[in-house]
Amino acid sequence: MNGLETKVPPNFIRNIIVDDVKSGKSGGKVLTRFPPEPNGYLHIGHAKSICLNFGLAAEFGGLCNFRFDDTNPGKEEVEYVDSIMNDVRWLGFDWDDRLYHASDYFEQLYEWAIDLIKAGKAYVDSLGADEVREYRGTLTEAGKQSPFRDRPVAENLDLFKRMRAGEFGDGEYVLRAKIDMASPNLNLRDPVMYRIRHMAHWRTGDKWCIYPMYDYAHGQSDSLEGITHSICTMEYEDHRALYDWYLNNLNVPCHPQQIEFARLNLSYTVMSKRKLLQLVQEHYVSGWNDPRMPTLAGMRRRGYTPEAIRNFCERIGVGKRESLVDYGLLEYCVREDLNLRAQRVMGVLRPLKVVIENYPEHQVEQLDAINNPEDASAGARKAPFSRVIYIERDDFMENPPKQFFRLSPGREVRLRYAYFIKCVDVIKDEKGEVVELRCTYDPATRGGDSPPDGRKVKATLHWVSAAHAIDAEVRLYDKLLNRADPSEEKGGATFKDFINPDSLEVIESAKLEPSLAGAPAGRRYQFERLGYFCVDPDSTPGKMVFNRTVTLRDTWAKVAKAEGIKQS
Ligand code: ATP
Ligand code: MG
Repeated sequence: MNGLETKVPPNFIRNIIVDDVKSGKSGGKVLTRFPPEPNGYLHIGHAKSICLNFGLAAEFGGLCNFRFDDTNPGKEEVEYVDSIMNDVRWLGFDWDDRLYHASDYFEQLYEWAIDLIKAGKAYVDSLGADEVREYRGTLTEAGKQSPFRDRPVAENLDLFKRMRAGEFGDGEYVLRAKIDMASPNLNLRDPVMYRIRHMAHWRTGDKWCIYPMYDYAHGQSDSLEGITHSICTMEYEDHRALYDWYLNNLNVPCHPQQIEFARLNLSYTVMSKRKLLQLVQEHYVSGWNDPRMPTLAGMRRRGYTPEAIRNFCERIGVGKRESLVDYGLLEYCVREDLNLRAQRVMGVLRPLKVVIENYPEHQVEQLDAINNPEDASAGARKAPFSRVIYIERDDFMENPPKQFFRLSPGREVRLRYAYFIKCVDVIKDEKGEVVELRCTYDPATRGGDSPPDGRKVKATLHWVSAAHAIDAEVRLYDKLLNRADPSEEKGGATFKDFINPDSLEVIESAKLEPSLAGAPAGRRYQFERLGYFCVDPDSTPGKMVFNRTVTLRDTWAKVAKAEGIKQS
């Protein structure tokens, strides 16, 4: 059992379970499962399924099994297996000792296949894969029966056993269920149950050279585990008839109920593992855990919290209709969570040097800085202040437009936790670019308080002391795709045509307050006024690396955009 208070808001699946528990179906028990195929990393869509399956089980005093759907050797890798288990735990769920594999059931599935052959409900086909497809017909046209469909039972048994014994090459034979080649449901037109694959499996090694198809393995695996509700995504709706057919025609322990829901689609990204694998293999991203990826590993590295992701999954709800969820909702959940837990610090991404002319040359003051205004228990820290500081380049404009309230020649602003400063001179290089500001400070404003004369300023800037700052690399991320709905793959376009070339911006030499030195990978902060950031595992003792998790909502950015003012 997981000890989380995962709330599943009312939805149609929950309603079905409420009714089943009331009517005493399955003895009033609830047992769900999360059945990933280890052919890639988990993504945020899987999180929806994990939260739903574990959440419903917890709510009804039931359990949720973890099962690897490992019927596809060749695509499956131990790296994926490890990452998947790690990610489910990270998300906050625990399957205790209930870790299963479809491959645990290979022997039983084989026995059941023999039963179907003996009952005249399965046959060995000699048609090749292309012919099987061709004979299957279309939605408007009935299929054709294979000439091998009426092979005698004894011959089927003999061939199937020899398939297992490795006497044939890949694709030479398949085992098919004998259902109905004219069924309006294509899944029932004698679906393939087993294919020959001379390929080692990550768990069973060379023991098998025939492997069951997903449809043949899934329902029986559910039944063997005593699953009550087998929750899957809509693309399996048309497979339900087959799921039920196997269970009805085999001597299985119980008949779980398959229920389908709409998968999560998120704007500006892709969710299919096949496409994510392409992004990795073709080096559009640095790996499955690139912070731009919609994978749980990527989101973790980016700084998203499991709480935020669970909250997001709760908010999007569960229905039958496909929709595209706005990425902004996920970011909203991340901000909401980090606002409560992330320590505030100061860091300057694009430093502009400021010399405070009337500040004593060798003086250093340790000023009090609050760690989290949302959480008094987070306490305070000391921020060193001295004569030379850095501010954000964007916080100065030589010729400011009306709506710009930050620093400009002759104007006074507040330095957070420090003093009011006033810009008295601007120093430029030979190209005319501003390289340094000369300012004065008012000692009567220590801590950033208004002076006795009640003078006010309109802006508060963040800063770092030049002599104390640490250097850091900061990685800023933008949307992976520049198209909200990447499924608009029209006219030969593929999702790769929508890849945003500016999704990563690396700032090599940011200046951060010294309290950040040595912060461990994964720790999250709010850099005041800039957003939430997370320490990247690429950090070394000599150079910290930070990822921007998400921006703060910046009202100036909106004004600047509306006014067409260029921001660096
Ligand atoms: P993909 O299509 O991304 O490759 P998949 O369905 O092949 O995913 P599985 O490993 O088979 O991936 O999925 C494990 C479970 O997660 C399944 O029950 C599946 O229905 C669910 N799942 C996968 N993608 C989503 C999604 N986008 N939204 C909700 N549930 C999902
Ligand atoms: Mg799948």
